[in-house]
Amino acid sequence: RELIRFKNVSKQYGEGDKKFYALHNVNFEINQGEYVVILGPSGAGKSTLLNLLGGMDQASSGEILVEGTNIEGYNDAQLTEFRANNVGFVFQFYNLIPTLTALENVSITKDIKKSKRTSEAILESVHLERQMHQFPAELSGGEQQRVSIARAIRKDPLMLLCDEPTGALDSKTGVDILKVLHNLCKEENKTVIIVTHNATIAQTADRVIYLKNGEIEKMTLNEQPLMID
Ligand code: ADP
Ligand code: ADP
Repeated sequence: RELIRFKNVSKQYGEGDKKFYALHNVNFEINQGEYVVILGPSGAGKSTLLNLLGGMDQASSGEILVEGTNIEGYNDAQLTEFRANNVGFVFQFYNLIPTLTALENVSITKDIKKSKRTSEAILESVHLERQMHQFPAELSGGEQQRVSIARAIRKDPLMLLCDEPTGALDSKTGVDILKVLHNLCKEENKTVIIVTHNATIAQTADRVIYLKNGEIEKMTLNEQPLMID
């Protein structure tokens, strides 16, 4: 089932002589439950693409269909509701609130849609049952990222958007985080979209979208994605 479709999406920044395309006529589809990597060098337009998809910013032209509805037609209030109901974000630097415990960081989301699972159950599912009452500064980098993943899935979103989720971690901890994301995708049928410049991570994906200078250079489907184990 198709979840996301980009149709001739462009995003321009700047004015006059300085005007340029961060994204130019981008077209692709993503199916429900896919594990997707958007790969490209710095400045390729990866974060711009993720921000448009997550309703954090709007395109200059084109359509972004999510379950058949063009979110580019949304006003600010509709976009806010779209983000709250449908999108979980995972960032490179976790973005946890330092004065709240792990459990409080996960519970704080006051989104409209209620998750079927409690925050405690979600933290257990990412193996943080012992650390629930610790503050971010008392957690390792990998643990902080697992809290941020737990926070992102608390509202049972349609899609999980991850911007360099392993970028601040050593490689072993990074692999652990990728396993958590992969399990969410395969066991809970979540659509997971990871932005990275790391070509090894791309080998684990079902679908890889290669971005360069704001355009899709190529797109591949991995018949046999590299197993993360
Ligand atoms: P990536 O995530 O692949 O590194 P980005 O999407 O962050 O690339 O950026 C793509 C291009 O758009 C870069 O040249 C960047 O400098 C530019 N850019 C990104 N955001 C803005 C902005 N808010 N204003 C102006 N230029 C921007
Ligand atoms: P890393 O290998 O990422 O540097 P740390 O050395 O920061 O990891 O943390 C190792 C373990 O110690 C983690 O499980 C973390 O939960 C725990 N820990 C770190 N700092 C504290 C603290 N101040 N209080 C309680 N537990 C802590």
